[in-house]
Amino acid sequence: MASAILVLNAGSSSLKFSIFEVAADRDLHAVAVGQVEGLGTAPRLKARDGNGQRIAELQWSNSEVSNHAQALQQIASLLRSRFHGGILAGVGHRVVHGGPDYSAPLLVSPQAMQQLETFIPLAPLHQPHNLAAIRAVQEVQPDLPQVACFDTAFHRTQDRVAQLYGLPYEYYERGIRRYGFHGLSYEYIASSLPQIAPEIADGRVVVAHLGSGASMCAMHGGRSVGSSMGFTALDGLLMGTRPGNMDPGIVLYLLQQEGLSAKQIEDLLYKKSGLLGLSGIGNDMRVLLASDETRARLAIDHFVYRINRELGALAAVLGGLDALVFTAGIGENSTRIRELVCRQAAWSGIELDSATNASGGPRISLAGSRTSAWVVPTNEELMIARHTRQLLGL
Ligand code: AMP
Repeated sequence: MASAILVLNAGSSSLKFSIFEVAADRDLHAVAVGQVEGLGTAPRLKARDGNGQRIAELQWSNSEVSNHAQALQQIASLLRSRFHGGILAGVGHRVVHGGPDYSAPLLVSPQAMQQLETFIPLAPLHQPHNLAAIRAVQEVQPDLPQVACFDTAFHRTQDRVAQLYGLPYEYYERGIRRYGFHGLSYEYIASSLPQIAPEIADGRVVVAHLGSGASMCAMHGGRSVGSSMGFTALDGLLMGTRPGNMDPGIVLYLLQQEGLSAKQIEDLLYKKSGLLGLSGIGNDMRVLLASDETRARLAIDHFVYRINRELGALAAVLGGLDALVFTAGIGENSTRIRELVCRQAAWSGIELDSATNASGGPRISLAGSRTSAWVVPTNEELMIARHTRQLLGL
């Protein structure tokens, strides 16, 4: 009888899920992908099968589905209806923070949960929801094995020099260090390069994960040596609603001169800045690209400028650049943003191939280009399913 792995990615008001069947040859096939969103406001579920066909669209009142545990019950009943007769072998979770030491996924135990809770102050907006999803599963099926896969783990190969901030050293020891995020996405890309782009897999590669959250990772031989995100997912590139890297003196100024509270600053930095704040129109790159407004153009130009600037820094960390890889919502889908980035990055030796860029790659640089450019779709859920399969010995 086939076994299945459930992958969960819990946010503050959403629970994304994927169900993978483990085939006889150990291959993983997605049989359902979807999410419950609007928890606390207008809860609803949307799901598609492995071929992208819609299989469910449901909505509830807040009294019917108000939290992750109730959302999980709805996912479980969908799972039963889609996966008759199979065995749910385990659940893999995206957990944003694995702290300073975890460089690999972890089989969840009561002791591990206690430790993961100590990382809540490092990621207060994400970690509690990730752990709530683990607890919700424990409540209904306490014996079901669960695996925590960390967004920080892939970056633990970085040198201490790269992870330091210039604060007194005791702050580093207390956990204030550059962790880096989007690690599951980068790990998936690193695992795909030997098949998709074997000539660069062992080389000096910068991967640009450009989604509503955005970051870049410098990889050498498939290992992380540098990242644009740091202590939190606020650092680095301009994002949908986050400003990315900025002078920490701005936070002091907002506190001391403008009288903003810590909560107001958190709101400003996580929800009101980035593409949304600069354009005044929205955080969706598609909307900005279609707009004639001057500030939409300004926001796009600044987004691209910051990518190019970070590319220069990460290329310096790598001691040169063999390839730039685009991934995630904007990186995979926007011909225009890839074109703007590659044109600005002409200094690196990238020569864009407009035809393959328009058709989506995978190689989007000309054959003779000194540095190549690529589009590689990411799949964080599949990475989590692979880790779960491996840890459970399936
Ligand atoms: P992600 O967080 O990886 O799911 O990426 C989501 C973001 O990708 C959305 O906010 C959109 O701004 C962006 N996106 C998706 N499709 C396109 C597209 N065709 N062109 C530009 N941006 C896109």
